[in-house]
Amino acid sequence: MTPFDANPSGAPGGADVIDISSRWRELDARFKRARAGAGDDDTALREDRSSAVVLTAPHGTKHYRAGAMKAADLHTGSLTLLAGEVAQVSTVVSAGARTAWETWDERDDEFARHLRELPDHARMVIDIHGMGDHHGPDFCLGTGPRPGPLERLAVEVLRSELAGFEVAVDAPFDARPHYTVTSLAQRHLGLGGLQIEVAARWRSPHDDAAAPGATALSRALTAVEERLRDAA
Ligand SMILES: [Zn+2]
Repeated sequence: MTPFDANPSGAPGGADVIDISSRWRELDARFKRARAGAGDDDTALREDRSSAVVLTAPHGTKHYRAGAMKAADLHTGSLTLLAGEVAQVSTVVSAGARTAWETWDERDDEFARHLRELPDHARMVIDIHGMGDHHGPDFCLGTGPRPGPLERLAVEVLRSELAGFEVAVDAPFDARPHYTVTSLAQRHLGLGGLQIEVAARWRSPHDDAAAPGATALSRALTAVEERLRDAA
């Protein structure tokens, strides 16, 4: 079954794909400007939409992870801006992460500060990453070190909304290491946390063939937001 067959009622038609792709390219340009303007400052883009779900993208640029410099998870910054806009949920996207850090306690850049200062209506942080296509799944949900009822609910909704895609849970990536945003949310912020690794084939704003993945993810996140609000 292809992703298009999965959702016959809401499958994206030609016009939707063009709209999503052109908006994604605009947001990709905006992200690149923010990254270029960031210079040596580790800035972050924040949009507060008073939602229960807050989408984050920590790896849209080169970044430190547990003391080591890593390459960007390509286009996760613009994908997160796009999904936040479509699903009408808040976003915090790192536009620079050059300062080395080992633990969340010592990390004090704009991205980390925005997460520590999330408004009261925030209930769950959903952290968007990129994985290689060779891992297999289209999406991998990582439930982190302390999954509870909110994580179970979000996994159930995402698996059902993304039924036409291969969705893995906690393998190959479980988001349990101490340095993940999911770990920060669950262990330090008192919030739900979930990681979504997106395969490279669904991450190019320059290839219209990636639009169905971005569209499906955005719709699925809309449903998670609705269910979390109902659960509040
Ligand atoms: Zn990542």
